[in-house]
Amino acid sequence: MPGFELFGDAERNEVNDVLNSGVLMRYGFDGMRQGHWKAKTLEQAIQSRFEVNHAQLLSSGTAAVSLALASAGVGAGDEVIMPSFTFVASFEAILMLGAIPVVVDIDDTLTLDIDSVKAAISPKTKAIMAVHMCGSMADLDALKHISDTHNLFLIEDACQAIGGTYKGKALGTIGDLGCFSFDFVKTVTCGEGGVMITNNEQFYTHSDQFSDHGHDHQGSDRGAETHPVLGYNFRISELNAAVGVAQFKRLDEFLAIQKNHYTIIRTELSKLKGVTFRTVPEGGEESYAFLNFFLDDLETARKVSTAFKANGIDVCFHYFDNNWHYIRKWDHLKEQKSLFPLSQEIKNGLSYLKAKTFEKSDHYIGRNISCLIKLSWTESEVKQRAQTMASIIREATL
Ligand SMILES: *Cc1c(COP(=O)(O)O)cnc(C)c1O
Repeated sequence: MPGFELFGDAERNEVNDVLNSGVLMRYGFDGMRQGHWKAKTLEQAIQSRFEVNHAQLLSSGTAAVSLALASAGVGAGDEVIMPSFTFVASFEAILMLGAIPVVVDIDDTLTLDIDSVKAAISPKTKAIMAVHMCGSMADLDALKHISDTHNLFLIEDACQAIGGTYKGKALGTIGDLGCFSFDFVKTVTCGEGGVMITNNEQFYTHSDQFSDHGHDHQGSDRGAETHPVLGYNFRISELNAAVGVAQFKRLDEFLAIQKNHYTIIRTELSKLKGVTFRTVPEGGEESYAFLNFFLDDLETARKVSTAFKANGIDVCFHYFDNNWHYIRKWDHLKEQKSLFPLSQEIKNGLSYLKAKTFEKSDHYIGRNISCLIKLSWTESEVKQRAQTMASIIREATL
């Protein structure tokens, strides 16, 4: 990660097809487009690579998460359980529909803590949103059992774990709906883009209509189409999709590089006492987009993070203090800083966040360092990096 590091002629050629035909939109203009259907082509490639019946390409991963919920009928006043450690898109997507994000603890998988999920279920719960953070997955068997028992939808946000698998199945295909992002810093990029995948035909039809102003996409005269439902515009452009067509073909190449780089660093860090690695649920295989490890305590993690930065070890994150992927930094959510009035239901629904604490999450995120695995490193750079990291950690844990 990220795929933009290895841009080349393949990406340029796909974009040029679109520029040469002049059709920058994914729908219509059949005569003009000279057979180029980039969004459709990418959707088909995604369906066959992940063995899933339907893929709806969209303008962003955030749109994909929102549409996954909307397609399943989640809306006003419904509660959606989500983790305390995730990208802000998770609660943005939920709030956009008038639903209420119920934030719960994570555990040593760095994803949803199963007991906390169970404890959060109420009569208003409609869905569980598992976010496969930093290249690895939530305990999907346990979540599936809970969602089946309580008749909830299970949504997988696999934006940071494309190519990872669980018990032989692609992440994103195990829940009712799955999402990937193709934004600029993801393993596969379109510049901006995302996709919602599902085996449920009705959910797919909903997403197809909702993402394009409710159009039914029947026939070949766009102006004559009917609108079975209200919708918005979350379309991807053909230019963005074209980049993705080239990038997605390279997914296995990218995954192999990630795995190789990850393994070199992990092998070196495994020799250190005081370093443990995130738990990967049994039967899971990471996408190797990140290497995540724990140190003994918060103070050590802070020391190591600071020393990494001072010694040129970039793209390693201590999410407890930095960035905006952890609940500690979500003041705009806790303080409900909306540009426009929020519904009373949402205001009431979010008020628990003013008092709720997340000790279990603090325990894991406080001690976690999460290192992005770059594609463009050479093997000797990775080996050097691994040794520098190891000696910094050794010194900090003396
Ligand atoms: C990147 C990301 C998203 C949103 O993707 P965008 O395409 O940037 O909107 C959602 N969830 C997670 C976990 C992400 O990392």
